Amino acid sequence: MRLRHIRDAEEKIASSPYVVQEPQKEKGSWAERFGKKDPIEIEVGMGKGRFIMELAESHPDKNYIGIERYSSVLLRALEKRGQTELTNIWFLCVDAGELTDIFEKGEVSKIYLNFSDPWPKDRHAKRRLTSPRFMAVYDQILAADGSLEFKTDNEALFRYSLESIAACGWKICSHTFDLYHSDMAKGNVMTEYEAKFAAEGKKICRLTALR
Ligand code: SAM
Repeated sequence: MRLRHIRDAEEKIASSPYVVQEPQKEKGSWAERFGKKDPIEIEVGMGKGRFIMELAESHPDKNYIGIERYSSVLLRALEKRGQTELTNIWFLCVDAGELTDIFEKGEVSKIYLNFSDPWPKDRHAKRRLTSPRFMAVYDQILAADGSLEFKTDNEALFRYSLESIAACGWKICSHTFDLYHSDMAKGNVMTEYEAKFAAEGKKICRLTALR
């Protein structure tokens, strides 16, 4: 049943006009794919895409790419995408580890990581999207003055990320353990997970980093 579900999702994604099917072929020429040279911002692990679609709608002067590795999850974003008229957003069904094959050095101006899977066991630390392995990927594709933003409800993951990001030579520009009671709340755009956690009264952590 599950396999059939995944196969159905993969077929729908393969024929979707909103998904770039061979993103490696766009490396270095994403501006042409968008038809404009505006800054490119990406969300890695976008889930159902609420956050990045809202950004795309409110910033028509920027280009957006939502990245999600699971076809069954991406499918949910596509359903929502079909109800919009956006012209500045594409979706990719790929793993974050592949991003250096998809973007040229410095091609991305901002990276968002929202409520990334915490992988609490030490032996799974390499899978965390703020681990040195992934920071090295972001370092390759992000413009020299580009930035990274990370939000999570998971304090242990947040503390790990503060250390890991700094240890990789990035500068933490700002951070908070309680977003809604900080001056970082201004202009905050909620994600699906965030809305759920906020409704439960959980504190949200957020950081921004540069190199
Ligand atoms: N960002 C969304 C939000 O805040 O509502 C979704 C959060 S969800 C907990 C994390 C998402 O990241 C999942 O959909 C998962 O499949 C995706 N993800 C995790 N690791 C990934 C990776 N290495 N590459 C691409 N997507 C990944």
